[in-house]
Amino acid sequence: MNSVEPQPPSPSAGLQAVEPGAPPRPADKYDAPSLVGNQGQKRFHVMAKPSGSTCNLDCRYCFYLSKETLPNGPGAGRMSDEVLEKFIQQCIAGVTGPEVVFSWQGGEPTLVGLDFFRKVVALQKQYGVPFNTLTCVNRFNARKPLDVYRFLRREIDSTYLQFIPIVEYRGFEKTAPHTWNNDALPRDGDPEARPGHPHSIVTDWSVDPDDWGYFLCKVFDDWRGKDLGKVMVNHFETLVAQHLGLGSQLCIYSEFCGKGVAIEHDGGVYSCDHYVYPEYRLGNIRDQRLDTQVFSRTQVKFVYAKNETLPKYCRACPFLSDCWGECPKNRIIRTPDGEPGLNYLCAASRHFSRTPFPRWTALSRTCGSNPCNPENGCDLFNLTIRCPSLTQSDHATDRKHRKPTKHHTDETK
Ligand code: SF4
Ligand code: SF4
Repeated sequence: MNSVEPQPPSPSAGLQAVEPGAPPRPADKYDAPSLVGNQGQKRFHVMAKPSGSTCNLDCRYCFYLSKETLPNGPGAGRMSDEVLEKFIQQCIAGVTGPEVVFSWQGGEPTLVGLDFFRKVVALQKQYGVPFNTLTCVNRFNARKPLDVYRFLRREIDSTYLQFIPIVEYRGFEKTAPHTWNNDALPRDGDPEARPGHPHSIVTDWSVDPDDWGYFLCKVFDDWRGKDLGKVMVNHFETLVAQHLGLGSQLCIYSEFCGKGVAIEHDGGVYSCDHYVYPEYRLGNIRDQRLDTQVFSRTQVKFVYAKNETLPKYCRACPFLSDCWGECPKNRIIRTPDGEPGLNYLCAASRHFSRTPFPRWTALSRTCGSNPCNPENGCDLFNLTIRCPSLTQSDHATDRKHRKPTKHHTDETK
């Protein structure tokens, strides 16, 4: 969860946990952050929703619009100056690691106009600040991986690419993750475990698991052939890092998650951006400090649950250390033998892990430094220092392919 890795206290340590209004009890691993206190660095991230779910668009696939009408949810509104100031103060005070990051989301930021963002991108380029594109991969664009990837590379000139697979449980508007009926979940391979079926477990626009695996493999091959060393793609970067013995850079592929909480316009704090439901409300910064909530026992349990709730099928999976059961909110199907808690995207993860596996294992070995030390100039992790063995041919290929075009290639041709 943070640099203060929660370690289960030794039974012989005899540590006691004291919670307000409760008798002292023997401490366990969920108490680790509160026992460590300020002796270690605290690092966490908060996704701020200053305008809640208010938006002037009507994207059917948006996971957040329904928060406005969610019973006992955050409702509609704007973050007041008081909450804003408290949030900024508490975030700066609560994070004691080297970097404090603010992220603003929710609502529709393009209300300020597209020209504004064109200027932002131009200024960022002028001052050498890289921008990052985040592309949602849904049931439709997942079938056009190269069109999507080449558009982002050639027309947007993005060099930091994030892809997020859209997976939404049917009924996500009111049903919190893990409150669903396990007996009603389809098994891996059932038609209900794909979008488009009348009784599908997901919305119609959710990505098909096979298409997501296909998308990742096709983009991986294009990136490997033309852009390795110059372009960062979140899924590839993190898997190469994991094979180099480094930690996952994406929460979904981590053994534990939970250091990225969300704050709503009213100051309400939730376990994760995807868990803004009353069941996962940690508190309100008006009543309790942000870092106290982030390192609370409730949230630490959330952290551990990503691993502790894995089905046996995942524990026996050869790709466990790459995938770790992906995001818990997507664990909406059952394993072939009927155990609940399997990830809806399991087929994609297996396919992607199996297909280019030898290629990224080779990538991970290329620099000869294991564990990797980015300060040595590894081209995968540092755009400004080129690794000749990896990129000489890539530079030539890149020049050929980077000619601006208004007509991106249809991959089917
Ligand atoms: S629940 Fe999913 S999105 Fe949230 S922190 Fe965990 S892995 Fe990441
Ligand atoms: S690939 Fe499938 S079985 Fe393997 S860890 Fe991921 S979700 Fe579990």
